[in-house]
Amino acid sequence: TKVLLTGGSGFIAAHILEQLLVKNHTVITTVRTEEKAQKIRAAHPDSIQQGRLTVVTVGDIAQPTAFDEVIAANADGLEVVLHTASPFHFKWTDAQTELIDPALNGTRGILEAIHRSAPSVKRVVITSSFAAVLSEERLFDPATTFTEDSWNPDGVADAGRSPPTAYRVSKTAAERLAWDFVAREKTSFDLVTVNPPVVFGPVAHSLASLDSINTSNERIVALLRGEWKTRIGDTGPVGLWIDVRDAAAAHIKAFEIPEAGGRRLFTVGGRTSNQEVARIVREGFPEYADRLPGPEVPGGEPADENKTFKYNNDATYKLLGIEWISIEKSVSDTVRSLKAHGI
Ligand code: NDP
Repeated sequence: TKVLLTGGSGFIAAHILEQLLVKNHTVITTVRTEEKAQKIRAAHPDSIQQGRLTVVTVGDIAQPTAFDEVIAANADGLEVVLHTASPFHFKWTDAQTELIDPALNGTRGILEAIHRSAPSVKRVVITSSFAAVLSEERLFDPATTFTEDSWNPDGVADAGRSPPTAYRVSKTAAERLAWDFVAREKTSFDLVTVNPPVVFGPVAHSLASLDSINTSNERIVALLRGEWKTRIGDTGPVGLWIDVRDAAAAHIKAFEIPEAGGRRLFTVGGRTSNQEVARIVREGFPEYADRLPGPEVPGGEPADENKTFKYNNDATYKLLGIEWISIEKSVSDTVRSLKAHGI
């Protein structure tokens, strides 16, 4: 299948790219800069040589026309588009231009470009997030169960509440825009969204440097650097997680499984805490002992069951048939990968 993958330099997308190539798909992937394009080409010389991988630079996706050219140029026989590119970091100074604009314009821009010039596209898969499922008000409510049908009620006007809120509304508004677009324009393609919570896991080979550590792996980096030695960082109110290889596999199943069309995939491996992450590393990697918190160190406790939301993703589990990778394996593989990258 001919697949276009946006944001190929991203943590999750690098795994999607590897899995697509293993499955012999033909892939066009987009990145922001030529430097990132070169890194991806260098990581997949055989696929480049066989013409199964093309890496294209599209610049800043806050520009509404960023995807026009790459879609028009590759429209012939294109069947699937996987849109993962969207800012996931807290390094911005202006939420509107650096977070919300790329999230919304990127999503609208790619959908418009496909609708206008790529009629052979049958399915679009968008990386949304648990951020578009949860409700901040109900995170501490044990009577709440989040499922595939839950929607974050916040809108762009709520972005000023906190940096995490700004990120969450960027994802929520982008996902809503996509469902609305498909319904309104009666597109030739249908839509699937993947809504993962915090993603852990090893860094893919095409990501050559630690600059590319995604925001969600940062806590494991902090742990290995000794930042939790006397106090483990807060788990935060969410605690749900998924391994990056499962999140990537879900994107591929999202276009392989016909009945996935029109669904939101709530991919959750389980619930964890920073205390559990610290324990797994302490038990499995004695070589880091001098930097790690001992079993007596406070902080990072699991959420109190009586004071936190519940979740149910049975529908996604049944549809995808993925046996989620365990937290032990995910954290251990992440540490091994970070070690190989010099931490
Ligand atoms: P990364 O930061 O590694 O990837 C983000 C990707 O989006 C990169 O390819 C990045 O390009 C691209 N991008 C961001 N902003 C722009 C922009 N303005 N113009 C062009 N490209 C841009 O994070 P992840 O891999 O973790 O995130 C991928 C997707 O998964 C995102 O949509 C994110 O919201 C979603 N997600 C992530 C979760 C997680 O815990 N990791 C959880 C739930 C959802 P560049 O490399 O040039 O910066």
